[in-house]
Order: sequence, then structure tokens, then C-alpha cells
Amino acid sequence: MTVTSGVNPMATKSFFGMTLADVEGHCRDFGVSAMHARDLFRSGYKDGLLKPWTRPGLPARYAGFCERELSSVNIRISSEFVSQYDGSVKFIVELSDGRMVEMVLMPEAKRVTLCLSSQVGCAQACVFCHTGRMGLVRNLDTAEVVGQAWLANQWIASRPEWLKANRLPDSQRVTNIVFMGMGEPLDNVEAVARSITIFTDPYGFNLAKRRISVSTAGHLDGLREMVKIHPDVRLAISVHSAVDSERSRIMPINRRWPLESLVETLRELPTQRENGLLIQYTLIAGVNDSVGHARKLIELIAGLNVKINIIPLNPVGPSRLRCPSSADLEAFRDEIHKSGHRVMVRYSKGQDIGAACGQLVAQVNATINAP
Ligand code: SF4
Repeated sequence: MTVTSGVNPMATKSFFGMTLADVEGHCRDFGVSAMHARDLFRSGYKDGLLKPWTRPGLPARYAGFCERELSSVNIRISSEFVSQYDGSVKFIVELSDGRMVEMVLMPEAKRVTLCLSSQVGCAQACVFCHTGRMGLVRNLDTAEVVGQAWLANQWIASRPEWLKANRLPDSQRVTNIVFMGMGEPLDNVEAVARSITIFTDPYGFNLAKRRISVSTAGHLDGLREMVKIHPDVRLAISVHSAVDSERSRIMPINRRWPLESLVETLRELPTQRENGLLIQYTLIAGVNDSVGHARKLIELIAGLNVKINIIPLNPVGPSRLRCPSSADLEAFRDEIHKSGHRVMVRYSKGQDIGAACGQLVAQVNATINAP
């Protein structure tokens, strides 16, 4: 699927990077009713028009102004890989400057979850993560984040055979969004927060906030900012070790925001009181997978309203890090279960197409190099 006609080299901004309030302001500045903004949003997000201003009913002079001033979706799907095991699809997405990111669609009963990228590369350098080896190349802007979901919906609508194979209705579209692709979303909090505003707008994607999850390695400045803007968005916190010295070795971000400050911040979150938090713990053989590590984790999260997802490591590239044995995995899970916490072992989807957690790497882009 190729979408390139939305690029307008003379344009000053992208329609798909604008919130409804921005589009209303755009209408008012031109001198037409702000009511047109809702129609434009509906055309762009519900009807999937590449150029929403070509819809009938818009004043012709304003439509012409939009055509000159606005860009449309300025990213495109470069290639796609469908998992033979679980129907997941990994997409390589080309940005307007030729750089590549990845997104993953995951079909489940009655829902389709889209895992989005928020950065090209990532500055956090977690040792078990392919993206982390690239370093940060650049942030995605709002239009590039929103454009991924727009492209995903277009792709779904054009693939009846994929919907049928996954027992989904023809009308199915993306129902859940997780910011767990390339990048640390809270290191790009402005674009991510604006995209969530568009995803949850009733005239936009119209997704409930509980259907959007933002994963973070523990970027506390970004976390505070995010909950100020979207206090009820779901948060997934990657802990991966409850021992500071060990966590710093596998997640350098821990040197800036160690466990004590992380937990202190989590305790103050409004989401913590209401929805609870998701704690993600990637289990790595011989690194963080003993029963002792499980007890440390239980101590760390004492008093927090959390659910714990244990994710056995997906080994990547030449790394010596390995997946834990089944016995160690079960012993770790059972220890947490005994403490009364909700705990699940999650196996990443799309393992045969390199789409699993920590495996995301934009393979096509030689300049660069997953919750
Ligand atoms: S796991 Fe997430 S935060 Fe860590 S390096 Fe990878 S993308 Fe960045």
C-alpha cells in the first residue's frame, strides 16, 4: 500500500498533526465557521479521506486554501510481514525524510491492537532491546504518530482476507493503541500527548482512553507531563529489575531515575488510584529471573495497585542474553502469585516476523539500527 500523494512541499503544516481545536482555529482564521472542523475530522478519520478538505460541502475558497496550506498523511507503508502463527502484521513505515520505523498490528478476539513507534531509535539504550542499540535519531512528530494509525485502518479496510482469517468483521478497525514500538514515548511527550488527543476525539478515532496504553522505561519528567495532560490514559511501567545496581546495568535510565524515585512518583499518580498500573518485567536468564528477584519485586511494589506482566526475553541479534527456562519462569510467576498480586506471563506476538517486544528494528534504513 502506497500513500505518497498527501505530501505538499509548499505546505506549512500537516492536517493529521492538528487537534480538533487546531482545525477549528484554522477555520476561524480563514473566516469560515469552526463547525467545518468536525466535518473535516470525520472525513479524515471516519471516512479515511487522504485530503479531508476535498469532501463536499466545504466552502470552495477554504478548500483551496487547505489544499495550498496543508499536507496530508506524509508517511507510507514500505513493506509488511504477516505472521503465520498469530496473524500479527509488522509494517516497515517510511517517514517523509526516508527514515524508517515499525508498527505492528495484533488481531485478537473482537479487537485489533496497534503497537506504534514514537521515535526513530531510542536514547535509553536498554541492553535487551534492538531499538536501544541505535541511539536516538529523532522524534516523530504528531502527524507521523497519527499517520501510523490512519495507515493501519486503511490497510485493515483493504484486507478482507486478513479480517476473515482472523475472524473479524469487515467493519473492524483499530480498537486499541499501545505505545510500545520504537522509542521511549515519554521522551517525546508533546507529540505523543497530542496524538492521544486526536485518537480519543469523538470526531477523530473516537477511542476510549482506557484503550490507549503508554509504555515507559521510567522517564519521570515525561510521566508527570503526560498525566497532567491525560490523567486517565493507561500506563505500563517497564521495571525489569527491582535491584538498583542490576537495573542500572540493563536499563541505563535507572541511573537518572532510580527505583525509589520511580515508585514514589507512581504512588502519586491519579491513574494508580483508579485504574491501576501495568508493571512489565522482561525475564532474562541468570540476570533477573530468580525467586529472590521475584521477592525484591514484591517488596518494591508493596501497596501499589498493579498488575504484573512477565515477558520471557525475546533474544535479539548477537546479544548473549537468553530466555529463562520454563522452570525458572514458573517459579518466578508462582512467587508473585503467592503474594496476592495479579500476574500473567505474556508471550510476545509476531515472533516469526521479528515483531516481538524488543525486536523492533527498522531493517531497511542503513542509518539506524519493543512493551
Ligand atoms: S526498551 Fe523501550 S526504552 Fe528501552 S531502549 Fe528499547 S525502545 Fe528504548
